Amino acid sequence: AAKRLEGKTIVITGASSGIGRSCAFEFARTAPKNLKLVLTARRVDRLHEIAAKIREEVGDGVKVLPFQLDVSDPDQVRSFVQRLPEEFRDIDILVNNAGLVKGVARAPEIDEGDMNIMFNTNVTGLINMTQAVLPIFKARPDGGAGDIINIGSIAGREPYAGGSIYCATKAAVRAFTDALRKELIDTRIRVMEIDPGQVETEFSIIRYYGDKAKADAVYAQNSGCDPLTPDDIAEVVVFVASRRQNVVVADTLIFPSHQA
Ligand code: NDP
Repeated sequence: AAKRLEGKTIVITGASSGIGRSCAFEFARTAPKNLKLVLTARRVDRLHEIAAKIREEVGDGVKVLPFQLDVSDPDQVRSFVQRLPEEFRDIDILVNNAGLVKGVARAPEIDEGDMNIMFNTNVTGLINMTQAVLPIFKARPDGGAGDIINIGSIAGREPYAGGSIYCATKAAVRAFTDALRKELIDTRIRVMEIDPGQVETEFSIIRYYGDKAKADAVYAQNSGCDPLTPDDIAEVVVFVASRRQNVVVADTLIFPSHQA
């Protein structure tokens, strides 16, 4: 696996915490000799801390670039590749991980602002990031090569009451991912999706404590389940990225035991 990742340039969105942060460490640990990591998120101070920790752990074999990027801002995303230092521009793998849930509400009470933030981040942001890197992938021989790994959610497959907008954003990620894979069928560009169930991250903390009473009611069906760790998801991300070129792990659902 390490050999197949050597020399790659990997962009991770939402790398400042949770699953994205774990992916950064997992890639670095798996291929510590010759790797370039572009870590993006809005909280760039956190990205610098993570970069320093990775350097401490694996040394200088992994070049880490902390890069401030709000995926919900189309202008920032459009100019993203041009703003990268040249040595980081030849991107091989994009992990579209940035995403959030905002507000827990049944249809009549859905806040328009929350809805727009979720769609602009989880859907439009992911699509715009994909558009930004595709020309790099397409420029490679034989129709193109590269990996797009989208983090969806079990919520995109099994919508729940009170989470209609978040679930709809993740269903949209699924539809986009599947359609894109078909559009790129004649290339060596792999389009893959990983759909986690419950994972203990800042995301879940917001879900559970942001408005605990409402969230408890919505997520009651998951009570008694011991959530996954962000590392559990990162291991799968690195696994799918490090298969032989001809192997497309297209669609993975991963959830903790007992999650209903
Ligand atoms: P975290 O809240 O820990 O991490 C979310 C990351 O997304 C942060 O790094 C945050 O960075 C980033 N982010 C949010 N908005 C933006 C934005 N506009 N531009 C750039 N980055 C942004 O949550 P998770 O690690 O759990 O979430 C990662 C992905 O996993 C999400 O897509 C989520 O929907 C999905 N997921 C999570 C599950 C869970 O139970 N935790 C279950 C299923 C899917 P910053 O704020 O610094 O910009």
